Amino acid sequence: MPELPEVETIKRGLITHLQNSIVQGVIVRHSHLRWPIPPNLNDRLSFKIIHQVSRRGKYLLLHFSSGTLIIHLGMSGSLRILEQNTPPLRHDHVDIILPQDKCLRYNDPRRFGAILWTEADPQVHPLIQSIGLEPLDSQFTGEYLHRVAINRRLPIKTFLMNSRIIAGIGNIYANEALFLSKIHPTTLAKQLSQAQCETLVQSIKEVLNNAILSGGTTLKDFVNSEGKPGYFSQQLYVYGRANQPCKICSSLLQLIQLGQRSTVFCMSCQAC
Ligand SMILES: [Zn+2]
Repeated sequence: MPELPEVETIKRGLITHLQNSIVQGVIVRHSHLRWPIPPNLNDRLSFKIIHQVSRRGKYLLLHFSSGTLIIHLGMSGSLRILEQNTPPLRHDHVDIILPQDKCLRYNDPRRFGAILWTEADPQVHPLIQSIGLEPLDSQFTGEYLHRVAINRRLPIKTFLMNSRIIAGIGNIYANEALFLSKIHPTTLAKQLSQAQCETLVQSIKEVLNNAILSGGTTLKDFVNSEGKPGYFSQQLYVYGRANQPCKICSSLLQLIQLGQRSTVFCMSCQAC
């Protein structure tokens, strides 16, 4: 599943190809994604300028003067920039045709993704307005985390993954950030000191920024906007390493389920 760093990487890639481009047309081969793709997308977007490409949580936003196209990659979606005459594959559901015979092609085998259109401010769209603070935003600080965690009686790992509190940290990065912060994933959110919250926020920013710098870390077959295979980071300390030795202390890493998500940690390094 593409996580925030992958979506940020895709956004940065798309800016190069899309910003200030005039859409030449839209081809919808399969309109039933998680929600139906709005009808008449070809009429809405043809010969309109993409003024800006941005991201909110894991949603990509293509801003036009008449509205905003909202794209979510769901579980298995990907976007590629291709020559328009490239024969479509089975799950290539949508092409946004660009100048110079290029296209932005959306592929999604499981069809849990979404392509939606809004003419209102996208920040108040029902899918977007409840998303919490962006973890890379300067407003996301230890003081903020401490303030929102202080009354919450749930494991810090589960708390971090609530996208109404913090926009899409994702399971990989929650595991890694807790390891770097030496915080046990089942520690109740309310038990964290302000100093621990400061450390945790720095770790979250560090793991996300490292992932963005390395082009996003994914489980399999991630294709970024340049059409190149994704980079699988070798820097993971705990995620996907259950029962392997800790890279710091050599203890065997433990696997537990928290909020139905795999959680891997080191009992020695993350003692409290
Ligand atoms: Zn360890």
